[in-house]
Amino acid sequence: MKLTALSMLLMCFSTLAWPLPQEARVPGGIALVRLPKNFPENTSITLNERPVWITQDGNGDRVAIVGIPLTTGAGALQLKTSAPTNTPVLVIDVAEKNYPEQRITLPTQEHVNPSEENLARFAREAQEQQAVYRAYQTTASAWPSFVIPVAGAYSSPFGLKRFFNDEPRAPHAGLDIAAPHGEPVHAPANGMIAMTGDYFFNGRTVMIDHGNGLISMLCHLSEITVTKGQSIRQGDIIGKVGKTGRATGPHLHWTVSLNDARIDPLLLLPATP
Ligand SMILES: [Zn+2]
Repeated sequence: MKLTALSMLLMCFSTLAWPLPQEARVPGGIALVRLPKNFPENTSITLNERPVWITQDGNGDRVAIVGIPLTTGAGALQLKTSAPTNTPVLVIDVAEKNYPEQRITLPTQEHVNPSEENLARFAREAQEQQAVYRAYQTTASAWPSFVIPVAGAYSSPFGLKRFFNDEPRAPHAGLDIAAPHGEPVHAPANGMIAMTGDYFFNGRTVMIDHGNGLISMLCHLSEITVTKGQSIRQGDIIGKVGKTGRATGPHLHWTVSLNDARIDPLLLLPATP
């Protein structure tokens, strides 16, 4: 097809509107680290031994998109590079963030203090999920655009310090969206189904590999309608909202992991004015 002036203009615009995530240099946030002009080509960057996504912004400048683990303390966080020692040092100044507390009462004590059998099950499942976070299975050329996987109120934000029946537990590493039971759940971005399973805490779960170590995990589904290895487009239905696993009511839990750091999913969506 012949390129018209209009379509060439649109191509120009799509280059300018290069989607980058929002930046928040806090634990559980994202740092957009613009690489200096003299930073050598074909140099890889890692954080905690995990490869970091390097892309270009609308001006063609190289940017490293770094997920900052929730466990990171405030202060200077240095990235490692594969370049010779005279390369500019890349440092992220991580600011402190005090996430609020959340106290939840669970009717099933088994989900607060599981039996040895269920603890062993959880350990196996955690390992399975961690393997997906660390695999760096598929590659993507550009940072993908994201949409919310289901419409609804954000019932629990990312990062909450959690107490179940007054006992401290791991922080909330995702975003909860309240939605009716059976509501279709959509893929937030293009990708490949990296894992499906029925887990002790997360319930029926789908993990989507968006490429370059960027993974979505969608939990507590009542039904899964995709299979491992399937490639999917943004908006495709991957399952239905439910309350399987450790859930007090129907909702979708959405975790996002970047370079094996769990980050706030809202940073992937366009900033609200
Ligand atoms: Zn949740």
